[in-house]
Amino acid sequence: MAQTMQTENRPAPRRKRHGSALKYLGALLAVALLVFVGARLKGWQEQRLESRTVVLVNPWNYMDDTGYKPHLTNVGGGMKLDRSCAAKLKSMLADCRAAGYEPLLLSAYRDREEQEQLFAQQVQRLIDGGADAEQAEDLAAETVARPGSSEHELGLAVDIVDGTHPATDDTQERTGTQQWLRENAWRYGFILRYPEDASDLTGAPYEPWHYRYVGEDTAWQIYSLGITLEEYSSLFYNEEAEIVFDEAE
Ligand SMILES: [Zn+2]
Repeated sequence: MAQTMQTENRPAPRRKRHGSALKYLGALLAVALLVFVGARLKGWQEQRLESRTVVLVNPWNYMDDTGYKPHLTNVGGGMKLDRSCAAKLKSMLADCRAAGYEPLLLSAYRDREEQEQLFAQQVQRLIDGGADAEQAEDLAAETVARPGSSEHELGLAVDIVDGTHPATDDTQERTGTQQWLRENAWRYGFILRYPEDASDLTGAPYEPWHYRYVGEDTAWQIYSLGITLEEYSSLFYNEEAEIVFDEAE
């Protein structure tokens, strides 16, 4: 009798436990799958965003050949920047001010027309100063980027000076604002884009006021390795064609 009771009673709860364990395992697997897929999607998205913000524009890589298009937003003072870095710039400037300095944003996004005007003005200045008209363009390109080769057209570059000493020459590096920015800009995803003694690599003269947004991971690598964006690009992006810029927005 006791045996019958056991055989009659046992299988039922066993089946139940087995069934709920399977459901539990199924739910767990579904959650794990969702987490995995979510993490991969987020990783891909971050990778694509970071790829977009490391676009290389210099005298050898013109913007029109990159396929990059800025997504602009206002950053105050009638200036615009790409949406990827507008908030980062604001935090960087706020923290720099909180540290006791007076950062002054001089320039952000420039459209092609503005860059053409800047370049033409520089050419004219040189011609007025006695330069040969045929050489004036090459001479101008030593200090002002030719239209299409300026990072300002990306909406990822800014010129920041110290409000107490707003000069755009080498003396700018000695200001408190620049000293703070040089140490901290990477935390906000920005790098000092044209360092001293790197003109052969960057194609631009030393500009202690010009900062470029590349994303925090890239900024940290460039800052900690003490390299330029050109060197970073040749290290990590051998095939520029692999960089994707078509993120939907
Ligand atoms: Zn600049």
